[in-house]
Amino acid sequence: MRRILVCPVCNSTEIELDAGGYTGKYYCKKCGYVGSYVLEMTEGEYREMIEGEEGERHRDSHK
Ligand SMILES: [Zn+2]
Repeated sequence: MRRILVCPVCNSTEIELDAGGYTGKYYCKKCGYVGSYVLEMTEGEYREMIEGEEGERHRDSHK
């Protein structure tokens, strides 16, 4: 199954290898994050994560 890279800061999937992969770091096109750590998951896992976070937001609004 195809795996996607996800930004740990903004959860965007618009991740590129920084400097063409030379530095071994990743670059997030959405928030500008640069680092060697990104989340790697399948599309199904990504969808679950996004939906889970939305569920948490709903719970918070009921406080
Ligand atoms: Zn980002």
